[in-house]
Amino acid sequence: MNTKHTRFIFVTGGVCSSLGKGISTASLGLLLEGHGYRVSLIKMDPYINIDPGTMSPFQHGEVYVTEDGAETDLDLGYYERMTNARLTRKNSVSTGQIYHAVIERERRGDYLGKTVQVIPHITNEIKKRIYDVATDDDLDFVLVEIGGTVGDIESIPFLEAIRQIRHDLGVARVLNVHLTLIPTITVAGEQKTKPTQHSVKELMELGIIPDILLCRTNRPLSADMKSKISLFCNVSERHVISAVDIASSIYEIPRMLHENGYDAIVLEHFGLAPTELSIPAWDSFMDALHDPQVTVRIAVVGKYISLQDSYRSIYEALGHGAVANRATLEIVRIDSEDIEKKHKLNVKGLFQKVDGILIPGGFGNRGIEGKIATVAYARKNGIPLFGICLGMQCTVIEFARNACGLEGANSSEFDPATEHPVISLLEEQEMIETKGGTMRLGAYQCDLREGTKARALYGRESVMERHRHRFEFTMRYRELFEENGMQCSGINPKSNLVEVVEVRDHFWLVCTQYHPEFKSKPTAPHPLFVGFIKAAIDSQKGKGAGSE
Ligand code: GLN
Repeated sequence: MNTKHTRFIFVTGGVCSSLGKGISTASLGLLLEGHGYRVSLIKMDPYINIDPGTMSPFQHGEVYVTEDGAETDLDLGYYERMTNARLTRKNSVSTGQIYHAVIERERRGDYLGKTVQVIPHITNEIKKRIYDVATDDDLDFVLVEIGGTVGDIESIPFLEAIRQIRHDLGVARVLNVHLTLIPTITVAGEQKTKPTQHSVKELMELGIIPDILLCRTNRPLSADMKSKISLFCNVSERHVISAVDIASSIYEIPRMLHENGYDAIVLEHFGLAPTELSIPAWDSFMDALHDPQVTVRIAVVGKYISLQDSYRSIYEALGHGAVANRATLEIVRIDSEDIEKKHKLNVKGLFQKVDGILIPGGFGNRGIEGKIATVAYARKNGIPLFGICLGMQCTVIEFARNACGLEGANSSEFDPATEHPVISLLEEQEMIETKGGTMRLGAYQCDLREGTKARALYGRESVMERHRHRFEFTMRYRELFEENGMQCSGINPKSNLVEVVEVRDHFWLVCTQYHPEFKSKPTAPHPLFVGFIKAAIDSQKGKGAGSE
C-alpha cells in the first residue's frame, strides 16, 4: 500500500477561503525540509473539472504547469517554489479525475455485480492517489491540502477519505491541521472565536479530529484566547497557533510559523526529536529581500490584470529577479484592453515611469492590439521587454508588421484569414478537436544559440522549460526575421520549433515561447528574470534607453 514510515499531514480549511492554505502548507513543507526530512505535497480540488486547464483565470487564477505537463492548481506553484519536492500530475487531484477513473473502470466491467458508490469506491480512489505519492519516493512526509472550505458539499468524499486514512494508519502517522480564521470586529477591536468553533464542530461531525488549529488572525492570540479556543475545540492550548497576517511578503510566513512553534509541534506529534531549523538558502534570500538598494518599476501588460492570482508565478518570478538584484519591485498593472479602448492604442503616457515591460501569456483576441502597440513602443524606445508565450507571439507579430514589412501579419489564432500567419498551428494541433489537456504542455528541450542574450544569461547550451500553448512561430518566416534583426536564439532540437527570440539591436528584448516563470524560486531565481530586472535597473540609470 504505502511505504512503512511515510507520515501524512492533512490540511483542511475552515470559515472561508483565501486564508492562505496553500502558502501555509508549502511553508510547513519548507520547515520540515529544514529539519532534514523529505516531503511531497498534494492538492486535492473538489471541483468536477479534470484540471483547471479549461477554466478562465478569472475563475481560478493561474494554471500552473508541472514538468510532466499537468495543468494544475496554482498552489502547486507555491509548493515548488518553497520546497524541493518534484511534483508531477500525481500531485494534483480533482473530483473530476477521481470520478473519471472510477466510471471508466465501471464501464470496463471491473466492478461487475456491484453497486458503485461514494463509499468505498470513490473514497478508495482518493486514498489510492494519496498512497501512490507516498510510494513513489522514500518520503518522510506527504502533505495533503484539501481544497475548499469544510462544510462544502463537494469536499465531503475527500474528508471521508482522510478520516479513513487516520483510522487505517493510526494517530502516530497522521496529523490533522485545520486552518481557520479568527476575525476581529473592527469597531470593538475584539477577536472572535465563534466561526472557528463552528468549523471545528463541522469537522468533528465528519469524524475528523484536528490536532493543530492554525488560526489566521490580525494579531497574535493572547493566552486567554488560546485557552478559550482550546476549551471549545478540544485542541490543546499549545496546539492553537497564531498565523498572523503579514502585509509585506508571503515569504515571511515560514519563519513566522516557525517562531510560533508550528514545526516543533508537528515533529512532537510524530514523536520525532526536536532539531534546530536549518534553511540557510531561504534565510539568505530573506536577508537580500530586507536589504534593497534600488526600486525597479515593471509594467505587466495583460488582460487578467484585475485579479492578483491570474499571473501569480509571473509576479513571484519578477520578485525573485528583483531580490537577486537587490531591488524593491513595483508592479504597474496595465490592462491591454484599456490600451485599445481608453487610450486608442496611444501608449506613450502609460510607460513614462516604468523601467521594463513584461507581456505574459494568454488566450484569445481580447486586448491583443493593445499588447502589440506596447511591443512597438518598447522596441522603438529601447525599453527592456520580456514577452512570455502570448507575449512572444505579439512581439513576433509586431516585428513582422513594422520591421519586416508584412502588413496585416497576425497569428492564425486571432485572424485565421491573415495573409501572413507568422504565428500558426502545427499540423498535429490542427487535427485536435478536444480542448482539455491537448496543448503543447510541460518540459521540452531548448538549445541556445551562442552569442545571444539568452545563452549568456543561462550560461548553458541547453535547458528544459515548461510549455502551455497551441500556436507556434511559423518556420518559413525565420530567415526574413533573422535578416531584419530578430534572432531565433533558442530552438527545440527535435522539432526545430522556435523557443526564444530576441531583437539584436535592442538593449534587452527577449521573448520565450515557454513559461520560465514556473521554474523560478526564491532560492533559485530564474536567470531570464534576473537578467530582465538587471536590464530594467540599468536602463533606469540611463544605460539603456534610446537604442533605436
Ligand atoms: N494563445 C497562445 C497559444 O495557444 C498563447 C498561449 C499562452 O500564452 N499560454 O499558443
